Amino acid sequence: MNIILLGPPGAGKGTQAKVLVDNHGIVQLSTGDMLRAAVASGSEMGQQAKAVMDAGKLMPDDIMVQIISDRISEPDCEKGFILDGFPRTTAQAEALDKMLEEKGLPLDHVIEISVDDGVLIDRINTRVAETPEAERRDDDNAETLKHRLEVYHEQTAPILPYYESRGMLKKVDGMQPIDEVSKQIEAIITAG
Ligand code: AMP
Repeated sequence: MNIILLGPPGAGKGTQAKVLVDNHGIVQLSTGDMLRAAVASGSEMGQQAKAVMDAGKLMPDDIMVQIISDRISEPDCEKGFILDGFPRTTAQAEALDKMLEEKGLPLDHVIEISVDDGVLIDRINTRVAETPEAERRDDDNAETLKHRLEVYHEQTAPILPYYESRGMLKKVDGMQPIDEVSKQIEAIITAG
């Protein structure tokens, strides 16, 4: 089972992906986590990623498409995968379609977790207030979030009509409690 989780930064895609991993034995492919690992490794790509991520901007499409193309070919993806943070532009969505077709893999569900910008900004302010500085992600602050939200509305939100026009998009209200969001995602998957 192959799933895309869409939604703005901070909507809970990562949290819900982990629930799906536990319940369905499929793997979570978070491009944000992969880039953070590259940053931690100090590689050349990691250095580029750090600058891009701290500014709340996006990495180039060709790099991200290659990372995902390589990753979904690995054996642990055989039972399926959840894409969390990818695709993030229409070019990435088109490249993904092509890649899945070439690899003979289906796309089973595209689920949007929607959360209003104001709620996301309230959430980040609470998180910053509650998390010791040493444990905070460098890109986890209200200023970067505002920029990431602008980038989301400009570059990522156009993917929604892309999948909607193919009759694939299912929407979940991400402002409900985490368990309720999980239940609704499960219901979408069960309904096929
Ligand atoms: P995330 O953890 O998904 O919110 O991603 C953190 C940051 O990594 C984003 O703000 C981008 O700078 C970068 N990033 C993650 N996924 C992608 C992607 N698919 N395309 C471009 N940049 C990405």
